[in-house]
Amino acid sequence: MQADLLADDERLVFSVARCPFCEGRTLETSGCTPLVGLVEAAIRVAAPDVHLIPEETGCRATGNAACEVTVVLPQGPS
Ligand SMILES: [Zn+2]
Repeated sequence: MQADLLADDERLVFSVARCPFCEGRTLETSGCTPLVGLVEAAIRVAAPDVHLIPEETGCRATGNAACEVTVVLPQGPS
């Protein structure tokens, strides 16, 4: 599985062009809950002290170009 990671100050976006979970499927709602779980597990390993909730923001099975999981980063007090 190949994922592109796009990052800015506010969020990380994991973009998976060939998501194995919804390859060849057509769904009305997104079908890659397992992908969200993978991202969540990866975050927990990389940053165990930070509590981040990944959210699926796009899915190929619903017609999106790629499956996308977005993690909104905590913003420090400014
Ligand atoms: Zn998907």
